[in-house]
Amino acid sequence: MTDLTGLSIAAMRDGLRAKSFSAGELAEAHIIAVESARDLNAFIIETPDHARAAAATADAALASGDAKPLSGIPLGIKDLFATKGYQTTAASKILEGFIPPYESTVSGKLFADGAGMLGKLNLDQFAMGSSNETSAFGNVVSPWRARGSNRPLVPGGSSGGSAAAVAARLCAGATGTDTGGSIRQPAAFVGISGIKPTYGRCSRWGVVAFASSLDQAGPMARDVRDCAILLKSMCGYDPKDSTSLDVAVPDFEAALTGDLRGKRIGVPREYRPDGLDPTIAALWDQGLAWLKDAGATIVDVSLPHTTYALPAYYIIAPAEASSNLARYDGVRYGLRVTPPGGNLADMYEATRAAGFGPEVKRRIMIGTYVLSAGFYDAYYTQAQKVRALIARDFDRAWEVCDLLLAPTAPSAAFAAGDKADPLEMYLNDVFTVPASMAGLPAMSVPAGLSETGLPLGLQIIGPALDEAGVLNAGYVIERAAGFTARPERWW
Ligand code: GLN
Repeated sequence: MTDLTGLSIAAMRDGLRAKSFSAGELAEAHIIAVESARDLNAFIIETPDHARAAAATADAALASGDAKPLSGIPLGIKDLFATKGYQTTAASKILEGFIPPYESTVSGKLFADGAGMLGKLNLDQFAMGSSNETSAFGNVVSPWRARGSNRPLVPGGSSGGSAAAVAARLCAGATGTDTGGSIRQPAAFVGISGIKPTYGRCSRWGVVAFASSLDQAGPMARDVRDCAILLKSMCGYDPKDSTSLDVAVPDFEAALTGDLRGKRIGVPREYRPDGLDPTIAALWDQGLAWLKDAGATIVDVSLPHTTYALPAYYIIAPAEASSNLARYDGVRYGLRVTPPGGNLADMYEATRAAGFGPEVKRRIMIGTYVLSAGFYDAYYTQAQKVRALIARDFDRAWEVCDLLLAPTAPSAAFAAGDKADPLEMYLNDVFTVPASMAGLPAMSVPAGLSETGLPLGLQIIGPALDEAGVLNAGYVIERAAGFTARPERWW
């Protein structure tokens, strides 16, 4: 009974049905875990009342034999999802105090399936970042430490609170969002799994918008099966999101067969630049060997426009962000700063100056610049063309392979403050951004450790709507890797 927080979601689901423990006990164990790990700063607000109420409902449903798929599962919700009656900030001062009168489709679906919410998870401000150092509510600290060092490490970003909380066993699973890697890179940094589904699988309705043509919600959990379970509840057609896909939701869990016979795994040669960390290169080779053992054949593929993905992303994402963030004007949500004697424009300026953090302001400036009349074609139109070429690269790859395997990130987690130069930070997204630009499903699975004992992830990228195939390959790697390393919590 002492280790309820260590169970997988699948084990919690089975234990609840077997009456080994109650949903109330599960909720209390997690509420205590959350309270005892406040030093990680993973949560912006804790919502034990929500978790307890869901647990009570779950226990009643379990007793009467009509439990739902996630009855009694305590989750964390990234604070980018609007949650009815609970503060939603996107980790920005400009939204502090905003209590949505509505629920995001994705969180609503999880709750309708019986899950409870332990709190709203910290993130990079407006999901802009790769290290969770841009939150207005402070950095998130990874539960991991490098061997022989006591320096606090970043949990990755932007879903850093989700990553830290799941890795530290504060919640069974969490929602993340991924615009250019924000589910996969933090999952890799803390040794958990996370999947970004195909663009349009999960509704964006009620998710604070960063770059609308890229944003996608997805689950983060301690293993692949748990990701499959959560993804099934999270996705599905939503008429409230005009880009939502009206397609059937497969049983992702049933797809986890571990059998890759007949599957061709592509190795994108552009993902192996000179100077790739040799430990990561070796792990990648190891991953290919594991997939081969499960019956797959390995093929070399080329994605020739890969090198242009990052610069094009850092034009398109800020362009969309500058437009999306125009709505934070001090009138409709959260913060309002009224300079004495000022007019309406002064109020807008003062509110935005005080409310947005430096990285958000940088993106708004870049985005406004690349959309300005004189530079639109040189930057934005050009970036859109590059995006089409990147998507075409993947389309060509699918003619010769079924899935791609690559590293998730070019390094293990780094220490807070180590990447002060924004460009250096952006480079961390080099392996995750291309799949985002093409709207493809991609997941990270923990596969090994760095030389200093930190988790490293491998990334599986699939064709549109083949989350099942991606998850199954992830499952093969997970089983072969037998990743059992745990973060140290006793520094
Ligand atoms: N790190 C990338 C960025 O800063 C991706 C963020 C994300 O996926 N939300 O834009």
